[in-house]
Amino acid sequence: MNIKNNINNFRQNLPAGCELVAVSKTKPIEAIKEAYAAGQRVFGENKVQELVPKHEALPKDIAWHMIGHLQSNKVKYIAPFVSLIHSVDSAKLLEEINKQAAKVNRIIPCLLQLHIAEEETKFGFSEDDVQKLFQSPEFQNLQHIEVRGLMGMATLTTDEAQIRKEFHGLRMFFNTLKSLPLPPQVTMEELSMGMSSDYKIAAEEGSTLIRVGSAIFGERTYQH
Ligand SMILES: *Cc1c(COP(=O)(O)O)cnc(C)c1O
Repeated sequence: MNIKNNINNFRQNLPAGCELVAVSKTKPIEAIKEAYAAGQRVFGENKVQELVPKHEALPKDIAWHMIGHLQSNKVKYIAPFVSLIHSVDSAKLLEEINKQAAKVNRIIPCLLQLHIAEEETKFGFSEDDVQKLFQSPEFQNLQHIEVRGLMGMATLTTDEAQIRKEFHGLRMFFNTLKSLPLPPQVTMEELSMGMSSDYKIAAEEGSTLIRVGSAIFGERTYQH
């Protein structure tokens, strides 16, 4: 794997308005430094216990994105520095992020994770849940979060039509929300969709943030 070449290739081939989040989970500091030397500044991690030491060890101009399921009791460890949380999957988690952001006097940008895949999962909002959230009185009190957009993961399948349908549906919902009057802390600027196996389809369907790990850093030796 030539990390530098991979980063450069991605950068050159992404459509305007689509940014690369280099997913460095399970990869060592050295691999991240190589990507950094190629100019990459946005990195994604899916575990708090990995994100915190990497943030401490690496240059402070890196924007760290949390992309994996986040437990409420761990929000406090990343609240001081995290740039964007892609994986907000419940109102309860959003409230905890707001609370911890207030303590460190920040407004933390967040994406709401929508459940778009066919697979059964405990995680993610439905379209209905999002509309209800924005209308709830509790949401109006959250002054330390910004809902900057949505995130979704397509079904793990080789059926490209299925993947495209799911990304397209999320883009349509994103557009619908953008056309509505929304609470002031909702900005709807980012749509996070696409990983190594499906980022091309995601980019065609209007993704603004692709989260790519193995296509840059190589296969992971163990799965998270
Ligand atoms: C691991 C991970 C990715 C990147 O996966 P690759 O297939 O290695 O590109 C993207 N998004 C999330 C949420 C992940 O956990």
